Amino acid sequence: MIAIENVSKNYGTFQVLKDCTTTVRKGEVVVVCGPSGSGKSTLIKCVNGLEPFQSGRIRVDGMDVGARGTKMSALRARVGMVFQNFELFPHLTIMQNLTLSQRKVLGRRTDEAEAKGEALLARVGLATQAHKFPGQLSGGQQQRVAIARALAMDPIAILFDEPTSALDPEMINEVLDVMVELANEGMTMICVTHEMGFARKVAHRVIFMDHGSIIEDCTKTEFFETQRSERAAQFLAKIL
Ligand code: ATP
Ligand code: MG
Repeated sequence: MIAIENVSKNYGTFQVLKDCTTTVRKGEVVVVCGPSGSGKSTLIKCVNGLEPFQSGRIRVDGMDVGARGTKMSALRARVGMVFQNFELFPHLTIMQNLTLSQRKVLGRRTDEAEAKGEALLARVGLATQAHKFPGQLSGGQQQRVAIARALAMDPIAILFDEPTSALDPEMINEVLDVMVELANEGMTMICVTHEMGFARKVAHRVIFMDHGSIIEDCTKTEFFETQRSERAAQFLAKIL
């Protein structure tokens, strides 16, 4: 489904990704963790073409990311992305946020897009909020809208970049609950998060990054139950 092969990326002389290789199968939930600046966000942005990379290859569902001839808009329509700061359109209502790309990118009719939007809002527990603007919602509610917006595109996978780290503690679980549900339904997910409870509950694999390299790429059980690299152990000791 998602194949990352020997990907390296530089910002000028600074190497932000060093020869990263991993594969994410259909229905797999992969948690990516690691210290600040280790390249986690950059790696997942490369997957849906938000960041270019200099060498290596990424394939998503048969599409060669960054290759000439690959339609990046088509790729982004298929791979959802949920960011730390929600990134909803502030001047659009919740329903308009949910329908815009469905109409513009997928060419759905307004009634069709709205029906989908309503169903997804109900699914994330926000059925009554459609007419509001993002600023009128709590952070946890906005993030659930952002997840619904990603789902509205019928994505083949969703990439999460620290979706709960900007939230007040009492709102974290309402977002994680939606993510757990998605994982249990078989959604393919790459989640950059330090929520190790979430990782223990639903991750199939855990990737640990440091200084631009994938240091660990193993099953959840291996990651949590066997002492692996010194660096991962130190990191875990700090965040748990
Ligand atoms: P965090 O946990 O803080 O979100 P991260 O693991 O997601 O960190 P990245 O955001 O991928 O890390 O950044 C990796 C490194 O690349 C950092 O050292 C960062 O300063 C650097 N970096 C990121 N974006 C740019 C840019 N546009 N230009 C130059 N350097 C950048
Ligand atoms: Mg980041």
